[in-house]
Amino acid sequence: MSSQTYRSSRCSVEQQLSFEDVVMTGLANDGGLFLPSAIPKLPSDFLESWKDLSFNELAFEILRLYIDPKEIPDLDLINLIAKSYSKFRSSEITPIRKIDDNLYLLELFHGPTYAFKDVALQFVGNLFEYFLTRRNANKADSDREIITVVGATSGDTGSAAIYGLRGKKDVSVFILYPTGRISPIQEQQMTTVEDANVHTLSVNGTFDDCQDIVKAIFSDKEFNDKYHVGAVNSINWARILAQQTYYFYSYFQLQKELTAKDSKDSKVRFVVPSGNFGDILAGYYAYKMGLPVDKLIIATNENDILDRFMKSGEYSKQQETGVKATHSPAMDILISSNFERLLWYLIRDNVTHDDSKAGETLNDWMKQLKENGKFTAPKEVLTAAKLIFDSERVDDEQTIKTIKEVYTSHPENYIVDPHTSVGVATSYRFIAKDEPSENIQYISLSTAHPAKFSEVVNKALDSFDNYSFEKDVLPDELKALSEKPKRIKLIDEASVEKVKQAIRDELKF
Ligand SMILES: *Cc1c(COP(=O)(O)O)cnc(C)c1O
Repeated sequence: MSSQTYRSSRCSVEQQLSFEDVVMTGLANDGGLFLPSAIPKLPSDFLESWKDLSFNELAFEILRLYIDPKEIPDLDLINLIAKSYSKFRSSEITPIRKIDDNLYLLELFHGPTYAFKDVALQFVGNLFEYFLTRRNANKADSDREIITVVGATSGDTGSAAIYGLRGKKDVSVFILYPTGRISPIQEQQMTTVEDANVHTLSVNGTFDDCQDIVKAIFSDKEFNDKYHVGAVNSINWARILAQQTYYFYSYFQLQKELTAKDSKDSKVRFVVPSGNFGDILAGYYAYKMGLPVDKLIIATNENDILDRFMKSGEYSKQQETGVKATHSPAMDILISSNFERLLWYLIRDNVTHDDSKAGETLNDWMKQLKENGKFTAPKEVLTAAKLIFDSERVDDEQTIKTIKEVYTSHPENYIVDPHTSVGVATSYRFIAKDEPSENIQYISLSTAHPAKFSEVVNKALDSFDNYSFEKDVLPDELKALSEKPKRIKLIDEASVEKVKQAIRDELKF
């Protein structure tokens, strides 16, 4: 196999960056996102030779294609994967579950924080530790390279990052969240972690204030030079990479569920509740590598920039209204940061037919987006996108209705979280249009455990006599969190200086 290198989506000269650089830097210094220089080819017999592999074995085969063995040798990669998935509560890591004719849920919430982000962030945390250990191998304490991860969260990302990075040597993590504006369970998850390298800052302000503070800290050169501020947000390539495994794994699981006849001529579609486009982008890579996917279906909430793009080719922020707070908060975005990666491929394959010119065109579109809040893709780009992608938009009312519908139609009263519900509502719309003879199977991604979004789930289900959140939804492990002592540092004002001081105080240097 040829060696795998990386490049920035906005660069117009050839680059050969290492996987390590890409993971440790996150964002390219020209503002672009990192892409593999070439999409690797699967072994020609992979449908046969990979079909019985465990999740971890499959992860190894896929990750190996994207990481040069000179950077991480086989045995180390095997260990990193094993460590990353050792804390999942399901032996299959990401099991599928049939909930209706032609409809399967891919349960991605069996990790430590009960949300799909664990699949990637458990791995990212181990990668940080692995690379830092190597860089610091023979260094005196005063020369050791460190990373200070600073992030803002309105919920899921913060806890998944904390659980991915807790206890990692030479890594400190500071997560900012708006006081009183995240769910009690999410606050408990973040603030009851005992590891000394984990710090939660409850900021008296909004989520946007927290994000602005994080941005200001990132662009503060002096602070950065001293503390090596790092990010684990959804643009980190390692996250996209780790998420590819479950597209392959669930594809194989599905084949085993189908009868021999069904399996032979069935089409497989993935439906993905989407915000920053990181989850579904992993599916796009799986498809580009050669996994037989019929469609990747984007499911958005009322923050619908992706759905509007798919219908018109215009990618535009809704600046007048801003971000809408919906029942699926982890998908509340104005623009989808990872969409840039898809655009690069669409431009390269349909407009410029050349790697370096694709960067120039993309740069131009991104400038328009920044200056005018929008750009319009040419027809050939939209046509190419529609060959593999489709989309639907699901509002809050439909989100609630679908939680009810799954609950009442499932023999064991299965309960989905509001993000998953956006995907299921989308799946139902597609299934209603399909002809039975087409034999289309849907794998709808289930991105969070319902216990994390109690308010919406209760709103949907409280009217059912038999329903009890404590009994039907809340796992013992999360129940126990409310008893544990919390460690929170209150920041009484949304001030960059006060947050920086809090970081200095904790790190003591
Ligand atoms: C982050 C998140 C999503 C959206 O994933 P993207 O990669 O941002 O598209 C959906 N559901 C839940 C529960 C999430 O935490």
